[in-house]
Amino acid sequence: MATAEQRREQLIELLREVRSCERCPLYATRTRAVFGAGNANADLMFVGEAPGAQEDLQGIPFVGRAGKLLDELLAENGLARGDVFIANVLKSRPPANRDPQPDEIAACKPFLFRQVELIEPTVICTLGNFSTKLLTGSPTGISRVHGIPQLHQLGERTVKIFPIYHPAAGLRTPSVKQTLREDFQKLPALLAAGPPPQQQPSPAQASVPPAGEPVPPAEDPQPKLFS
Ligand code: URA
Repeated sequence: MATAEQRREQLIELLREVRSCERCPLYATRTRAVFGAGNANADLMFVGEAPGAQEDLQGIPFVGRAGKLLDELLAENGLARGDVFIANVLKSRPPANRDPQPDEIAACKPFLFRQVELIEPTVICTLGNFSTKLLTGSPTGISRVHGIPQLHQLGERTVKIFPIYHPAAGLRTPSVKQTLREDFQKLPALLAAGPPPQQQPSPAQASVPPAGEPVPPAEDPQPKLFS
């Protein structure tokens, strides 16, 4: 089993791989790939949809208006960005913030699964439809599943997936913001309950899709993205 430091190193390797990724056409229009940021040993991971304009410029997830609301909700529940890890389904911005396309999601999915494997969160809070559908493997939309934790086997581990509305939806609709706030308040208890019972991995479950070939070391790994 890898130590925390080894996992952090592997995360930096993955960051390099994401930065040089050309698996889908979005690489041609992005300013920066947005790998994710936060605590590499976090118990709680958030997964959004895709970088927007600000994220694309800064290379950091959730730094625009939706990110400000996420920060607010974290603070209201005694959490800070340094306690959690924040990632997205897509690591590159779709032009004009259009919806992620199935081929883009398929190309980027191995990176997200590898991040989950390395960070080993207890709870993954999916923000909105795209991350919820991807990580639950179900087409059921966020309005039906928000606020109800689900257990899923991701790679070798059983993880609590907790779907909530995307903060951008909360910014658009006050009643959604209220629901988001109420769902968010369930997170501290979910975390305090600790990890769910783990199954013995079968050979099939143990095979998380590989993120691809190792890439040569880059000059600027931006290690300050995570602690
Ligand atoms: N919306 C997302 O889903 N992710 C971001 O990083 C920013 C806005």
